[in-house]
Amino acid sequence: MLGRELERHDPWDIVVIGGGATGMGVAVDAASRGYDVLLVEQHDFGKGTSSRSTKLVHGGVRYLEQGAISLVMEALKERGILRQNAPHLVTDLAFVVPNYEWWEAPFYGVGLKMYDLLAGRYGFGRSEMLSREETLERLPTIRTEGLRGGVVYYDGQFDDARLLINLAATAVEQGAIVLNYAPATSLTRGADGIVDGVVARDLESGREFRAAARAVINATGPQSDRVRRLAHPDAEPLIAPSQGIHLVFDGSFLPAGHAIMVPHTTDGRVMFAIPWHGHTLVGTTDTPVDEVAMEPRPFDAEIAFILETAARYLRKPVTREDVLSVFVGIRPLVRSGTGGTTASLSRDHTIHIDPSGLLTIAGGKWTTYRRMAEDCVDHAAMLARLPEKPCVTRNLNVHGFHRQAGNFGALSVYGSDALLIQDLIRADPSLAGPLHPALPYVGAEAVWAARMEMARTVEDVLARRTRALFLDARAAIDMASETARLLAGELGRDEAWQAQQVAAFRDLAAGYLVA
Ligand SMILES: Cc1cc2nc3c(=O)[nH]c(=O)nc-3n(C[C@H](O)[C@H](O)[C@H](O)COP(=O)(O)OP(=O)(O)OC[C@H]3O[C@@H](n4cnc5c(N)ncnc54)[C@H](O)[C@@H]3O)c2cc1C
Repeated sequence: MLGRELERHDPWDIVVIGGGATGMGVAVDAASRGYDVLLVEQHDFGKGTSSRSTKLVHGGVRYLEQGAISLVMEALKERGILRQNAPHLVTDLAFVVPNYEWWEAPFYGVGLKMYDLLAGRYGFGRSEMLSREETLERLPTIRTEGLRGGVVYYDGQFDDARLLINLAATAVEQGAIVLNYAPATSLTRGADGIVDGVVARDLESGREFRAAARAVINATGPQSDRVRRLAHPDAEPLIAPSQGIHLVFDGSFLPAGHAIMVPHTTDGRVMFAIPWHGHTLVGTTDTPVDEVAMEPRPFDAEIAFILETAARYLRKPVTREDVLSVFVGIRPLVRSGTGGTTASLSRDHTIHIDPSGLLTIAGGKWTTYRRMAEDCVDHAAMLARLPEKPCVTRNLNVHGFHRQAGNFGALSVYGSDALLIQDLIRADPSLAGPLHPALPYVGAEAVWAARMEMARTVEDVLARRTRALFLDARAAIDMASETARLLAGELGRDEAWQAQQVAAFRDLAAGYLVA
């Protein structure tokens, strides 16, 4: 929809600022209730934290230790609902906690039984104690010296950016308009001082447009305070940003397909090593930061910490040279007002309403995006006096829903869309060509991303429509020029645009390499 048409539209019931998990969840919830919804995202959908998570759909085993029982129960329930509504994206994964001390087996065994119990009818598999041999069968690369046994438990795993793109499609199917590359630049207020619209810029045309709104929802994650200050320049900060990094290695570190969970690293955190798209993902850290950068960078100490922790548990040596990609996300943690470390801040979500009526939703986690959205839309509807309409997302299938998506091989994450991508290949067999020998992506995926998933740049395709940049940054750099050529064909761009895209992607991808 063009800027002028957007402006002519009557006030939207709800305008959402931010196209991450939180904002897109709100758009799906509000549109499926029957509200009239516009979402604006300043860059690409998922450019922020929502493409940079550990990719777990989980209750959060470690919050059990903090006694946050209701938080864990709610997340476990949402885990079950998400697997039901997006079975093509959420898979069960077995996690092994290796035990080296005599007390670990009973301690973690009991804790994980409690985790099973709290999941109730939304349970995944049951946790079990493992002998030393059984632990080694599941984790053949683990350090054997002092190994006594382990505990296995089950949680969910997903592809965060892919779920987000599928949620964008779901929102559109439910009647929402979602725009990427459209930053909100200011908020407008009526004579009563209440926020009544959003001014945004369409970055491709350079045009500004105003979208009048009955309710404006600020779902900009770590950047929430920046948007609040558009209405309240002196607003006290709500967010305590904290960054977490992940290192990605090849698949040989976890050959049996089980994940490792280390419940207590030397700094008291949980660390995961998980198999993901044929690779091994290890993380994460929790480092308070002052700046919220669009492309946050890892600190050297964070890289060293993950490598040291991995080396303590793996027999196979792990070095900087093994790192195929490093990516960084910023948690939008909500301040407790009492200071302290970010690791101890609440992981629950917060809904904050400023005196201008601007509603900010922040915190929480990917796993609970649906519940957060329900809560947020309930508040927004009440605040804006919208007619009451019940939430329907509990039983709303996410776009791509397919129960046997595993049959689609490398295209399984697309769910039912895999069939349409196969049609593209049938119509033009040259699109079956791999974009790189080290990764499973083919040309048809770039064409599909441009045609059906609003991808506008090489980065959109290689970072979020496929996960090439996150899996292997060097391979992604090699894929850039063919991706640019395919995109240019779809978007009607010339060779100069292709050259500019390749150069911009190389610069960006350099930040995902560990020198
Ligand atoms: C390291 C790490 C690991 C994690 N692992 C997990 C996990 O395994 N499982 C789990 O459940 N959760 C996990 N989380 C939490 C989860 O990723 C976040 O809670 C969630 O992604 C936050 O989404 P969001 O939409 O609030 O923020 P974001 O994803 O950052 O989205 C905010 C969006 O707003 C946009 N925006 C900002 N300003 C404007 C503007 N002016 N106009 C328009 N758009 C704007 C940004 O570009 C961005 O896309 C993890 C978080 C981190 C940091």
